[in-house]
Amino acid sequence: MKQTNKMMLTILITIVLIMLAYLGFKDDNGNFDFQKLFNDVLAIIIVFGFFVLVAVLLRRFSGQNQQNPQSQMQLQTEEIDKDFSINMTKSDVTFKDVAGIDEVKEELEEVVDFLKNPSKYEKFGIKLPKGVLLVGPPGVGKTLIAKAVAGEAGVPFFYQSGAGFVQMYVGIGAKRVKDLFNKAKTSSPAIIFIDEIDAIGKARGALRNDEREATLNQLLTEMDGFEKSEGVVVIAATNKIELLDDALLRAGRFDRRVYVDLPGLKEREEILKVYLKNKPYSDEITELAKMSVGFNGASLASFVNEASIHALKRDATNIENQDFIAIKDKVLIGKKKILTYTEQEKRVLSYYQAAKAVIAYWLDIDFDKITLVKDDFKDIDRELVSKSEIMSKISVYLSGIVCVEDIFNERYSNAKEDVFKAKELANEMVSEYAMGENLLGNEMEVASIIDEQFNKTKVLYVSQKEVILKAQEILFESEILYQEDLKRVMDEVL
Ligand code: ADP
Repeated sequence: MKQTNKMMLTILITIVLIMLAYLGFKDDNGNFDFQKLFNDVLAIIIVFGFFVLVAVLLRRFSGQNQQNPQSQMQLQTEEIDKDFSINMTKSDVTFKDVAGIDEVKEELEEVVDFLKNPSKYEKFGIKLPKGVLLVGPPGVGKTLIAKAVAGEAGVPFFYQSGAGFVQMYVGIGAKRVKDLFNKAKTSSPAIIFIDEIDAIGKARGALRNDEREATLNQLLTEMDGFEKSEGVVVIAATNKIELLDDALLRAGRFDRRVYVDLPGLKEREEILKVYLKNKPYSDEITELAKMSVGFNGASLASFVNEASIHALKRDATNIENQDFIAIKDKVLIGKKKILTYTEQEKRVLSYYQAAKAVIAYWLDIDFDKITLVKDDFKDIDRELVSKSEIMSKISVYLSGIVCVEDIFNERYSNAKEDVFKAKELANEMVSEYAMGENLLGNEMEVASIIDEQFNKTKVLYVSQKEVILKAQEILFESEILYQEDLKRVMDEVL
């Protein structure tokens, strides 16, 4: 009950008591009667006490619903936050436990060294990133890598998932971010790892979400607030860097990015070696690596585990490749995201991607490597881009279709992403850059640009077919084609 209400009630009661007492303090003759006064006051107190008791009981039983919404929310937020605990561990993972990611390890070795000897870097005024963003699909070892950095440096590891910050009530996430950073700072040097940072860091679009924004702002404030010398490095992981708010990627925040891809053939072999190390296995690991195109590190781990169980069940003394063949489908079931390909599918993909690589090389579209499922064509990194450059890029995206149509007399659904990109470029040409027939073009013009480029690409394809066939062999065999290898092939053929 509020203070003012209490006062009003007290005054009211006092007035009533005085009135009744005044009426009751005289007897029938109008003389003072102390006994009567006493009885009246006592009766009033008893009746009043009874009402107060009833009121108190009613309040109790009607529950806390009558509280004002703010205090109710505070109660609930405290309740929710009880479940939140800051997760600090000492990591015993080292880089040796993470197989097949040499480039990633190299990039992170500097961070390890910094955490071990911060003064060395300070002396030379070297600024190291406060934040490292690990970008890659699920299960490729991002968490494992972050743990390995902590393990190698011998510093505490604070784990938190992005989704764990953002709750229903505004303010909880921000408080959690603050608590996490404070704890890490007191144990510094330390690593903070934020998994699935996109849960907090999604770009602030049309749909506002106050809680997420408050959490993101707090994270930005914390990252700006601490000095490098405090020895806290924040590692975050995401699958969708394109969704992240630009503010997170700005200098001084997560300005270092490390890409972790699905393991290629060689990497899969190394990961399998790690998991088969202490097991009775004597077959060809290369065969297993070939069998597991599209597997991530996590599914390779269960691939080995399931095969071991299978070998045990058939009373074998050794785990053999037949055990892997028997359980392969089981490992894949329920893992929608993980792709695996049959020999024929691999063949189609290798032709498709080989054509893209050769045509890109021919048309000066830069790239480092191309795999069965992914290319890394560089965006044109200039302010001024010509129409012919954009047309060339469209050609590259269409060249896979041209090639598989020639070889298999068929088209395949893997072209979806490339068709989308080609269409997007053609659309930009006509609707933004006035590069179509009319100054501002329409859908029809987009289609006609695509058709025109498709026909030109066919001509180019025929002239490059020999090189494409050689490139396909490499891609089919090793699942990856580097630009240097392609150059070599071209020199041989031409
Ligand atoms: P992410 O964080 O990218 O989703 P995780 O780090 O959680 O992936 O990986 C899940 C599990 O998969 C790890 O605990 C480990 O057992 C296995 N794993 C993934 N990548 C590798 C790798 N490169 N080397 C060894 N094991 C790996």
